[in-house]
Amino acid sequence: MRRVSEPPEAPQPIDLSALSCEELERLARERLIAGAGVARGIYKQVMRRGVFAPEELGLGPVAAGAWREHFRLALPRVVRVVSEKCQLERSELTEEPDCDTAADAAGQAMTAKAVLATSDGLEYECVLLPMGRGRATLCVSSQVGCKMGCKFCETGRMGLLRSLSVAEIMGEILVARHVLGWEFRNVVFMGMGEALDNADALIQTLRIMADQVGLAFAQERITVCTVGRVDGIQRLAALGMKRLNVSISLNAANDALRSALMPVNRTVPLAELQAALLQYRPRANFVLGVNYCLLPELNDTHEHAREVAAFCRPIGRVMVNVIPYNPGTLPLTRLPTEAEIDQFIGWLRDEGLPVRRRITKGRSVMAACGQLGNVELRSELRTLRSKRALPLT
Ligand code: SF4
Repeated sequence: MRRVSEPPEAPQPIDLSALSCEELERLARERLIAGAGVARGIYKQVMRRGVFAPEELGLGPVAAGAWREHFRLALPRVVRVVSEKCQLERSELTEEPDCDTAADAAGQAMTAKAVLATSDGLEYECVLLPMGRGRATLCVSSQVGCKMGCKFCETGRMGLLRSLSVAEIMGEILVARHVLGWEFRNVVFMGMGEALDNADALIQTLRIMADQVGLAFAQERITVCTVGRVDGIQRLAALGMKRLNVSISLNAANDALRSALMPVNRTVPLAELQAALLQYRPRANFVLGVNYCLLPELNDTHEHAREVAAFCRPIGRVMVNVIPYNPGTLPLTRLPTEAEIDQFIGWLRDEGLPVRRRITKGRSVMAACGQLGNVELRSELRTLRSKRALPLT
């Protein structure tokens, strides 16, 4: 408790990247005696250029100083960037935002992974995925680590250290675009962490991304992927963002196998997940993304394909994305062969399901699906955990 004689604490500067334009205008009016009128200009600076420069907007030193006292732009530091050339296929041109199979005019492009640092010394990662024809998708993280513990995932093996703040998630997008100069049309929440396990931050981030004064992301350019947080799916539905894309990470469509691969299934079994998805109809032509990591000898039989079809059939329109397993540091199984991948996709198509094969990108730099959360990062986390006595989740 503060003693009566102590001076009142100065309010902490607010992260500009965590606000919508409307919120910034309101806070500027509340906090600033003069200069609040440039709030919209400040917002454009932050979102469209990644800078905070009130002086550029004609403010004198006192008003600009007041802005700096009450607001800040603290983008995450780039620790390192690693990249890998990847080959794109010409055969499956598509506009779908979470697709990895579009053709590139040159046939080759770079997958790049940026490791970013939080102000408290943690690291998290975002990945630039080329989509063909010069377009790219940014895959962003929502947490440092993840508590979901999916057996095929490097991040899951880290456990959860903490969720990222709105400013840290937005920092990925702003750094990628304005510091690294990456150009991307789409954003997918499929990096480190379960996005709906950090739903408050995710929802505010979605609002900011869509803000017309700033980044003005079209909703259809954003995809949220979840392992099946039913409460989170219901919150997304309540948001009213009708054109937002949603995908689920399925990976098995019988409870015994899915529970073995994905512990979340023990608390939210398939029937419950399916019921939530049946309710999620944001628009008439909504297509649910169903991601299926193909694990040889674990979930790749004809029967498994039939089970996927049985799970999907009542839901309505779906697009199954088959993702060949990327072995990490402790492989659960081996890479699937091309023949195995083709056979499984064939079985799904025989069941009447639309299917895309996701091309593996970034495997050599641990930037492919399921590979985020590398060895160095895990050992850093172990050290931090022991220093802070944090529990393993
Ligand atoms: S697949 Fe996603 S939800 Fe599962 S452990 Fe990895 S990051 Fe977490």
